[in-house]
Amino acid sequence: MDNRNSTQIISYLELVIKEKAHLQKGMNFRKDSRPSVFLMSVKDNAPYADVWDEEKQILIYEGHDVYGAGDKRKEIDQPMYSSGSTLTDNGKFFRESERYKNSERTTPLEIQVYEKLMPGIWYDKGLFELLNAEIIVRGNRKVFTFHLHPKQVSAQNPDKIFEYTHERMIPAHVKVEVWKRDGGKCTTCGAGDGLHYDHVLPYSKGGRSDDAKNIQLLCARHNLEKGAKIM
Ligand SMILES: [Zn+2]
Repeated sequence: MDNRNSTQIISYLELVIKEKAHLQKGMNFRKDSRPSVFLMSVKDNAPYADVWDEEKQILIYEGHDVYGAGDKRKEIDQPMYSSGSTLTDNGKFFRESERYKNSERTTPLEIQVYEKLMPGIWYDKGLFELLNAEIIVRGNRKVFTFHLHPKQVSAQNPDKIFEYTHERMIPAHVKVEVWKRDGGKCTTCGAGDGLHYDHVLPYSKGGRSDDAKNIQLLCARHNLEKGAKIM
Protein backbone atom coordinates (compact mmCIF):
# COMPACT_ATOMS: atom_id res chain seq x y z
CA MET A 1 0.00 0.00 0.00
CA ASP A 2 1.27 3.46 -0.80
CA ASN A 3 0.85 5.63 2.25
CA ARG A 4 2.51 8.58 0.67
CA ASN A 5 -0.67 10.15 -0.62
CA SER A 6 -2.62 9.60 2.56
CA THR A 7 -2.50 11.78 5.63
CA GLN A 8 0.50 11.44 7.91
CA ILE A 9 -0.66 13.66 10.76
CA ILE A 10 -3.91 12.42 12.27
CA SER A 11 -6.14 12.97 15.26
CA TYR A 12 -6.73 10.24 17.80
CA LEU A 13 -10.23 9.80 16.36
CA GLU A 14 -8.80 9.16 12.88
CA LEU A 15 -6.40 6.65 14.41
CA VAL A 16 -9.31 4.83 16.06
CA ILE A 17 -11.23 4.76 12.78
CA LYS A 18 -8.24 3.45 10.84
CA GLU A 19 -7.48 0.73 13.39
CA LYS A 20 -11.13 0.02 14.23
CA ALA A 21 -10.15 -0.01 17.89
CA HIS A 22 -9.43 2.20 20.87
CA LEU A 23 -5.82 1.41 21.60
CA GLN A 24 -5.12 1.76 25.29
CA LYS A 25 -1.61 0.37 25.46
CA GLY A 26 1.62 0.74 23.58
CA MET A 27 1.96 -2.77 22.18
CA ASN A 28 -1.07 -4.29 20.46
CA PHE A 29 -0.50 -7.79 19.15
CA ARG A 30 -2.61 -9.08 16.28
CA LYS A 31 -1.89 -12.45 14.81
CA ASP A 32 -1.43 -11.72 11.10
CA SER A 33 -5.08 -11.06 10.21
CA ARG A 34 -4.02 -7.43 10.14
CA PRO A 35 -0.91 -5.57 11.25
CA SER A 36 -0.10 -5.32 14.93
CA VAL A 37 0.20 -1.79 16.30
CA PHE A 38 2.92 -0.06 18.31
CA LEU A 39 2.29 3.36 19.80
CA MET A 40 5.35 5.49 20.43
CA SER A 41 5.95 8.55 22.49
CA VAL A 42 9.42 9.98 22.20
CA LYS A 43 9.18 13.19 24.18
CA ASP A 44 11.86 13.86 26.78
CA ASN A 45 9.70 12.41 29.54
CA ALA A 46 8.55 9.40 27.52
CA PRO A 47 8.60 6.21 29.59
CA TYR A 48 10.46 4.07 27.04
CA ALA A 49 13.64 4.47 25.02
CA ASP A 50 12.60 4.22 21.36
CA VAL A 51 15.28 5.28 18.89
CA TRP A 52 15.89 5.40 15.16
CA ASP A 53 19.24 3.88 14.12
CA GLU A 54 20.12 5.91 11.04
CA GLU A 55 23.03 3.72 10.04
CA LYS A 56 21.11 0.44 10.13
CA GLN A 57 17.78 2.03 9.10
CA ILE A 58 16.13 0.32 12.04
CA LEU A 59 13.60 1.62 14.54
CA ILE A 60 14.41 0.17 17.95
CA TYR A 61 11.32 -0.11 20.13
CA GLU A 62 11.72 -0.92 23.79
CA GLY A 63 9.55 -3.58 25.37
CA HIS A 64 7.20 -2.84 28.20
CA ASP A 65 7.61 -3.02 31.94
CA VAL A 66 5.76 -5.28 34.29
CA TYR A 67 2.24 -4.02 34.97
CA GLY A 68 1.09 -2.89 38.36
CA ALA A 69 4.50 -2.44 40.00
CA GLY A 70 4.29 1.36 40.25
CA ASP A 71 7.62 3.13 40.67
CA LYS A 72 9.36 -0.19 41.19
CA ARG A 73 8.71 -1.29 37.59
CA LYS A 74 11.97 0.28 36.35
CA GLU A 75 13.90 -2.00 38.72
CA ILE A 76 12.28 -5.23 37.55
CA ASP A 77 13.19 -7.26 34.45
CA GLN A 78 10.69 -6.75 31.66
CA PRO A 79 8.58 -9.90 31.70
CA MET A 80 8.22 -12.58 29.01
CA TYR A 81 5.28 -14.16 30.88
CA SER A 82 2.52 -12.54 32.88
CA SER A 83 1.52 -15.57 34.92
CA GLY A 84 2.31 -19.21 34.42
CA SER A 85 2.85 -19.76 30.72
CA THR A 86 0.81 -16.79 29.45
CA LEU A 87 2.97 -14.63 27.23
CA THR A 88 3.05 -10.88 27.84
CA ASP A 89 2.97 -8.53 24.86
CA ASN A 90 6.77 -8.59 25.00
CA GLY A 91 6.63 -12.38 24.81
CA LYS A 92 4.17 -12.50 21.91
CA PHE A 93 6.28 -10.20 19.72
CA PHE A 94 9.50 -11.94 20.79
CA ARG A 95 8.03 -15.31 19.82
CA GLU A 96 7.05 -14.09 16.34
CA SER A 97 10.55 -12.68 15.83
CA GLU A 98 12.04 -16.05 16.82
CA ARG A 99 9.66 -17.88 14.51
CA TYR A 100 10.75 -15.67 11.63
CA LYS A 101 14.44 -16.20 12.41
CA ASN A 102 13.86 -19.97 12.59
CA SER A 103 11.99 -19.91 9.28
CA GLU A 104 8.82 -21.13 10.97
CA ARG A 105 7.17 -18.17 9.31
CA THR A 106 8.09 -16.98 5.84
CA THR A 107 7.44 -13.27 6.28
CA PRO A 108 8.15 -11.04 9.25
CA LEU A 109 5.32 -9.80 11.43
CA GLU A 110 3.96 -6.48 10.20
CA ILE A 111 3.62 -3.67 12.71
CA GLN A 112 1.91 -0.35 12.13
CA VAL A 113 3.57 2.42 14.16
CA TYR A 114 2.04 5.66 15.40
CA GLU A 115 3.94 8.35 17.23
CA LYS A 116 2.21 10.65 19.69
CA LEU A 117 3.29 14.23 19.11
CA MET A 118 0.89 16.04 21.41
CA PRO A 119 -2.39 15.22 23.13
CA GLY A 120 -4.76 14.22 20.32
CA ILE A 121 -2.14 14.66 17.56
CA TRP A 122 -0.50 11.55 16.14
CA TYR A 123 1.95 10.84 13.35
CA ASP A 124 1.40 7.79 11.16
CA LYS A 125 4.89 6.33 10.72
CA GLY A 126 3.54 3.61 8.47
CA LEU A 127 4.21 -0.11 8.30
CA PHE A 128 7.29 -1.84 9.63
CA GLU A 129 8.56 -5.40 9.69
CA LEU A 130 9.71 -7.11 12.86
CA LEU A 131 13.13 -8.44 11.86
CA ASN A 132 14.65 -9.12 15.25
CA ALA A 133 14.02 -9.04 18.97
CA GLU A 134 16.59 -9.12 21.73
CA ILE A 135 16.70 -9.20 25.49
CA ILE A 136 19.47 -6.88 26.63
CA VAL A 137 20.83 -5.71 29.96
CA ARG A 138 20.17 -2.03 30.55
CA GLY A 139 21.22 -0.67 33.90
CA ASN A 140 20.68 -3.51 36.33
CA ARG A 141 17.80 -5.25 34.61
CA LYS A 142 16.77 -6.95 31.39
CA VAL A 143 14.69 -5.17 28.75
CA PHE A 144 13.31 -6.23 25.40
CA THR A 145 14.23 -4.43 22.20
CA PHE A 146 12.32 -4.92 18.97
CA HIS A 147 14.06 -4.10 15.70
CA LEU A 148 11.69 -2.74 13.08
CA HIS A 149 12.61 -2.09 9.48
CA PRO A 150 10.44 0.31 7.45
CA LYS A 151 8.34 -1.68 5.02
CA GLN A 152 8.84 -0.39 1.52
CA VAL A 153 5.95 1.54 0.12
CA SER A 154 5.11 0.96 -3.48
CA ALA A 155 5.97 3.88 -5.71
CA GLN A 156 7.14 4.05 -9.27
CA ASN A 157 10.02 6.34 -8.52
CA PRO A 158 12.72 4.97 -6.16
CA ASP A 159 13.65 8.52 -5.17
CA LYS A 160 10.15 8.96 -3.76
CA ILE A 161 10.54 5.86 -1.62
CA PHE A 162 13.83 7.22 -0.34
CA GLU A 163 12.34 10.60 0.54
CA TYR A 164 9.26 9.06 2.12
CA THR A 165 11.38 6.79 4.32
CA HIS A 166 13.18 9.83 5.66
CA GLU A 167 10.02 11.85 6.16
CA ARG A 168 8.90 9.05 8.45
CA MET A 169 12.04 9.38 10.54
CA ILE A 170 12.08 13.09 11.31
CA PRO A 171 12.66 13.21 15.09
CA ALA A 172 9.51 13.72 17.12
CA HIS A 173 10.80 16.85 18.87
CA VAL A 174 11.39 18.43 15.43
CA LYS A 175 7.87 17.44 14.37
CA VAL A 176 6.40 19.07 17.46
CA GLU A 177 8.42 22.28 16.95
CA VAL A 178 7.38 22.50 13.28
CA TRP A 179 3.73 21.79 14.11
CA LYS A 180 3.65 24.66 16.61
CA ARG A 181 5.61 27.05 14.38
CA ASP A 182 3.37 26.41 11.33
CA GLY A 183 0.21 26.51 13.45
CA GLY A 184 -0.92 23.04 12.34
CA LYS A 185 -1.53 24.29 8.78
CA CYS A 186 -0.11 23.89 5.28
CA THR A 187 2.53 26.61 4.84
CA THR A 188 1.38 27.15 1.24
CA CYS A 189 -2.42 27.29 1.42
CA GLY A 190 -3.34 27.14 5.11
CA ALA A 191 -5.23 23.84 4.86
CA GLY A 192 -5.55 22.12 8.22
CA ASP A 193 -6.01 18.53 7.12
CA GLY A 194 -4.19 15.95 5.00
CA LEU A 195 -0.92 17.27 6.40
CA HIS A 196 2.60 15.97 5.78
CA TYR A 197 6.04 16.85 7.05
CA ASP A 198 8.13 18.00 4.11
CA HIS A 199 11.88 18.50 3.76
CA VAL A 200 12.37 22.03 2.34
CA LEU A 201 15.66 20.84 0.84
CA PRO A 202 15.12 17.13 0.05
CA TYR A 203 17.00 14.60 2.14
CA SER A 204 18.51 13.16 -1.05
CA LYS A 205 20.01 16.59 -1.79
CA GLY A 206 21.59 16.94 1.64
CA GLY A 207 18.63 18.46 3.49
CA ARG A 208 18.57 17.70 7.19
CA SER A 209 15.84 15.88 9.10
CA ASP A 210 16.95 17.00 12.55
CA ASP A 211 16.67 20.74 11.95
CA ALA A 212 13.22 22.34 12.15
CA LYS A 213 14.37 25.03 9.73
CA ASN A 214 14.46 22.41 6.96
CA ILE A 215 11.04 20.90 7.75
CA GLN A 216 7.63 22.38 6.97
CA LEU A 217 4.00 21.37 6.99
CA LEU A 218 2.38 20.83 3.59
CA CYS A 219 -1.06 19.52 2.71
CA ALA A 220 -1.24 16.37 0.54
CA ARG A 221 -1.82 18.40 -2.62
CA HIS A 222 1.12 20.76 -2.15
CA ASN A 223 3.33 17.93 -0.99
CA LEU A 224 2.59 16.06 -4.22
CA GLU A 225 3.08 19.16 -6.36
CA LYS A 226 6.44 19.79 -4.77
CA GLY A 227 7.45 16.14 -5.23
CA ALA A 228 6.56 16.32 -8.91
CA LYS A 229 8.75 19.40 -9.40
CA ILE A 230 11.77 17.84 -7.71
CA MET A 231 11.70 14.58 -9.65
ZN1 LIG B 1 -1.57 23.28 0.78
